[in-house]
Amino acid sequence: MAENVIMAKELNFNYQESVEGISDISFSIDSGMVVLLTGNSGSGKSTLLKCLNGLIPAVTEGEMSGSLSIEGKDYSDVKMYQLNKAIGSVFQNPRSQFFTDNTTAELVFPMENYGYSKEEMLTRLRELKEEFGLEGLLDRNIYTLSSGERQLIALASATAMKQKVLLFDEPSANLDYGNAMKLGRIIERLKKEGYTVIVADHRFYYLNGIIDKVLFMDHGKLKVCESEEEF
Ligand code: ATP
Ligand code: MG
Repeated sequence: MAENVIMAKELNFNYQESVEGISDISFSIDSGMVVLLTGNSGSGKSTLLKCLNGLIPAVTEGEMSGSLSIEGKDYSDVKMYQLNKAIGSVFQNPRSQFFTDNTTAELVFPMENYGYSKEEMLTRLRELKEEFGLEGLLDRNIYTLSSGERQLIALASATAMKQKVLLFDEPSANLDYGNAMKLGRIIERLKKEGYTVIVADHRFYYLNGIIDKVLFMDHGKLKVCESEEEF
């Protein structure tokens, strides 16, 4: 039987200044699944991802209730660094992912200090470079890269860190059709490598045929579909 990775039970979150947040969210995700998280703008997709990666309540203020667990452990019993080791995120706005004007290489290599493999990182970047035709990426100032390129670097670092669970927030937003399709094949490969991938997006043509579960958000409420067909 597939191992349960993430479980949410009656999860609620309200931002302080907002009445609507997410409410009564329950779902379970098994290891190796590709999960599509979709729904209209403002329906709560990013909010749910921020709960999953621990930014809520660590950084974002508001009221949270209900429970979240990772591999059977309640989030409240997991330290932030352990959560960061287990869950990698590629944010919706990749500008907010890198608060620095270092080169890509400078940014990436210190990661070794945190136990991430430089070799792995380089391999991932080379793969992405070949796949997406990104030239001289390592020597460029991260701020001179396009949003799509930055998102790809975030993707490379997330996968190089061997986090079991990857959260992508609108990864296709800055990509053209062809590159979005390539991203779909990368996610398919990650799935084969045993990663659990949760993708929040409005468009999901690039995930055709590889979605194991759909979480559909509507005004902060969730409908779970157990397959792409059911959705
Ligand atoms: P999009 O498709 O536009 O990315 P989303 O589904 O990711 O939308 P969220 O960003 O999760 O939506 O927002 C859900 C609700 O919470 C919205 O009503 C939004 O205005 C509100 N919200 C989001 N971030 C904050 C914040 N920091 N403070 C207050 N309210 C917020
Ligand atoms: Mg969002």
